[in-house]
Amino acid sequence: MTVHFIFRCEFCDAQSDPMTQINLQKAMRERTWGAYQNALPGNWLVFHGGGLYGRARYACADHRGDLVAYLREHYGTIGFHVWKRPPYPSSLAHADTDHAWIAATRRQGGWGS
Ligand SMILES: [Zn+2]
Repeated sequence: MTVHFIFRCEFCDAQSDPMTQINLQKAMRERTWGAYQNALPGNWLVFHGGGLYGRARYACADHRGDLVAYLREHYGTIGFHVWKRPPYPSSLAHADTDHAWIAATRRQGGWGS
């Protein structure tokens, strides 16, 4: 029996289309946290949770803005990852600028230090 993940938007009952589903599953395997990621072609937005941010969250194309607003409202005071502005990478594996950005923010300390 194959485990089949169903991705649902946090804000409506939308489910990802099959192609986007594949990219959402790939996104789940990224070893990162506190980062936004696009899931194409459905233009979903993933937020990699972890640590202070809790679980990963997903939003359909119609609710990307709602997800960002929600995260900023709830986590904006404890972490600045959620304030990152688009464009968001569709693949973190090749997002060198993203890694540089995370490294830069880590150097500033402030995370539980
Ligand atoms: Zn939605």
